[in-house]
Amino acid sequence: MNKDKKIELGITVKKDQDFSEWYTQVVQKAELADYSTVKGCMIIRANAYSIWEKIQEYLNKKIKKIGVKNAYFPLFIPESFFKKESEHAKGFTPEVAWIANTEEGERLAIRPTSETIMYDSYSRWIRSHRDLPLRINQWCNIVRWETKATRLFLRTREFLWQEGHCVYETKEECDKETLEYLKEYKNLCEELLALPVLIGKKSESEKFAGALYTLSVEGVMPDGKGLQMGTSHNLGQGFAKAFGIRFLGEDGKEHIPWQNSWGVSTRLIGALVMVHGDDKGMVIPPRAAENKAVIVPILTGDNEKVLKRAKEVFRELGKFNAILDDREGYTPGWKFNDWELKGIPLRIEIGPRDIEKKQIVLVRRDNYEKMSVKDKNLSEEVERTLDLIQENLFNRAKKLMDSKIASVKNKNEFKKAIENKMAVKAYWCGNSECEKIVKNEFSVKSLNMPLDQPKNIKENCFCCGKKANVICYFAKSY
Ligand SMILES: [Zn+2]
Repeated sequence: MNKDKKIELGITVKKDQDFSEWYTQVVQKAELADYSTVKGCMIIRANAYSIWEKIQEYLNKKIKKIGVKNAYFPLFIPESFFKKESEHAKGFTPEVAWIANTEEGERLAIRPTSETIMYDSYSRWIRSHRDLPLRINQWCNIVRWETKATRLFLRTREFLWQEGHCVYETKEECDKETLEYLKEYKNLCEELLALPVLIGKKSESEKFAGALYTLSVEGVMPDGKGLQMGTSHNLGQGFAKAFGIRFLGEDGKEHIPWQNSWGVSTRLIGALVMVHGDDKGMVIPPRAAENKAVIVPILTGDNEKVLKRAKEVFRELGKFNAILDDREGYTPGWKFNDWELKGIPLRIEIGPRDIEKKQIVLVRRDNYEKMSVKDKNLSEEVERTLDLIQENLFNRAKKLMDSKIASVKNKNEFKKAIENKMAVKAYWCGNSECEKIVKNEFSVKSLNMPLDQPKNIKENCFCCGKKANVICYFAKSY
């Protein structure tokens, strides 16, 4: 077997030359995901599933603190439920997969989202104000029958997500927590995944079907495209009315509650690849990495001594869940490439000379910086270096995102920015007519409007030239 063959199977295109091909190669070659024989579906491989587990771990901790409990609802939704909230049904119908001719006498939708099936139960579970707030989340798969080309993690017919569904007595509570979940998403992206986001409100035409309003976290990818990374919807009272959810208030009268729903999906892993990956492959931020380091013994002569030391280091670094790559028959160089491709944050090299000098060598995945560390400071130095990697990845990603957003004043500048593969920040009148124009002319959608808007805006709309009312981000999007 030619051991060097596999190196040629590394990433063969540069990220800044063919971004789309680069992305597909990284996802497949880093063993994050693969295509299925069923069109539009993806296989999430162990290297990516472990990132998903980190996301679950992080988010579960945060939302449980707020009072959310996890549960599970069925995959199948009776058509009659699905159609109860008309805006919702209209918004989702084109992408629903149906199971026909069931014993129930009606078609069953495969959940594209679970509002309707959950709220049918809620209408039976909620009786009085003492039952509120009700906060339930589920981790599950959903199906949206996409017809556009499959993009692993970004556009597939089935994907994994979590969907939180809460019910409150008042609009104020609902508003407050809708924002709170959004902020947890921002923290998740920034703290765990080292991904900077734009936090804001969706426009009327881009909000969730059936919602009062939608808040979102959005990323701008290195190719200037926007990626919606999480949404939190204040659903108002529309679903409660449609599903007959009522509660007896402290005043002894019957009231209609307020609801929100919120979700993030496995597309976050797609963002992780696009933002942090480089020409050698995947780069996993340390906090999101199952294995934070890989130990590669440099076996050139006195192998026994080196292996013994490598095993000691492996045990000493137990809390980082390091991998000890003592595979025989592969050169250190081959192993370096392999782990760089897979994105392990830190490489630890141990050779005969290092043992003599009572040191090991650390190599950072984010910037390839190499440093020698004395044996006695090992654990502290590894920890410190992982923190530096996490921080550097975020700062680098933030700088990159900022450089991909152009502030524009008019349609001409708008057009130019989009042609230059940038996202756009612009003053906008807020009218959906202007959104339609840029959608038709440039295939661009509004991402969101920052929550902190300036007061007394004096500028004009970039599109129609009338008085502007908000600042909004626009981009081509995934
Ligand atoms: Zn306008």
